[in-house]
Amino acid sequence: MIQVMSEPKAHMRAMRIHRLGELCPTNPPLQDDRIPVPIPGDSDLLVQVHACGVCHTEIDEIEGRTPPSRLPMTPGHQVVGKVVDQGAACKPGLMNKRVGIAWIHSACGQCRWCLSGRENLCLDFSACGRDAPGGYAEYMTVPESFAHIVPDELGDLEATPLLCAGAVGFRALRLCRLENGQNLGLTGFGASGHLVLQMARHLYPDSRFFVFARSAKERAFAAELGATWTGNTGDRPETGLDAIIDTTPAWLPVLAALEALAPGGRLVINAIRKESGDRDVMSRLSYEEHLWQEKSLSTVANVTRSDVRECLRLATQIPLRPHVTAYPLEKANQALLDLKRGHIRGAKVLQVI
Ligand SMILES: [Zn+2]
Ligand SMILES: [Zn+2]
Repeated sequence: MIQVMSEPKAHMRAMRIHRLGELCPTNPPLQDDRIPVPIPGDSDLLVQVHACGVCHTEIDEIEGRTPPSRLPMTPGHQVVGKVVDQGAACKPGLMNKRVGIAWIHSACGQCRWCLSGRENLCLDFSACGRDAPGGYAEYMTVPESFAHIVPDELGDLEATPLLCAGAVGFRALRLCRLENGQNLGLTGFGASGHLVLQMARHLYPDSRFFVFARSAKERAFAAELGATWTGNTGDRPETGLDAIIDTTPAWLPVLAALEALAPGGRLVINAIRKESGDRDVMSRLSYEEHLWQEKSLSTVANVTRSDVRECLRLATQIPLRPHVTAYPLEKANQALLDLKRGHIRGAKVLQVI
């Protein structure tokens, strides 16, 4: 039984992926559809979307590197909105609460990964906006236990990048096992890098931070946010780095990062997929230069609920206020093209209401 406390309209706007292909101006990937407002199941919330961040993963979905599990699909996994309806099995008192929804839309809750706090690795992991309809729409549903209360200090728009770039970046930082005073490198300085740098400065005040980015604008932005050193991909700081987070879609930075690690250093790749353009550079991988001396390499996959919640909490403590550029929902194709082409500072966000 659904407990209806406010009446959402019957139909809504949703910007949906209907077919896969390369994202380019002559081939807008999203269609502006009118579809029925979804009905929440017993354990679900119906959320009226206020804002939804635009992420590079949407481009990976559209171009087929991590395709939607069905079409058409509403993308979007950095959603802030208001609870306007809830299923009968949900706990009372959630109506009108402001919640965030991240890439983790659900997991099985019973497997060994779910039971050990690594629900991000669940084989039944369902991704918001890829396996379940996401936030490029006026409404969406989410299992109650996968919605996160957004602290009042954070506005709708500025909270959205924390739900992906921030939370996944936070997870990458965790996997670095950095100790205060150790050197951290970041290769690439996009939506995630600029948040990770601010979180890392707060958590490791005596550490030094090295940012590798191809664009001079990104390097200047990194310096402004407190990077100790900035350089191009392949430039080498004088000191070895204890951990590096790679957020680029390319392979050359992986090789360069392994080379820049100090003995015992950890490289964490934070990218859902790598593009294949420069994959050949990995044939230069040398055991002595890149792996010897107990260097390690891991990836970061998805996020857990605790990553999302801790990132939101940390953001209010620092305080962390992401830079955003807003687009109306119907301009989602433009936002994706702008993201693919490059570099407006900070994160792009669809402002739905
Ligand atoms: Zn994302
Ligand atoms: Zn599971």
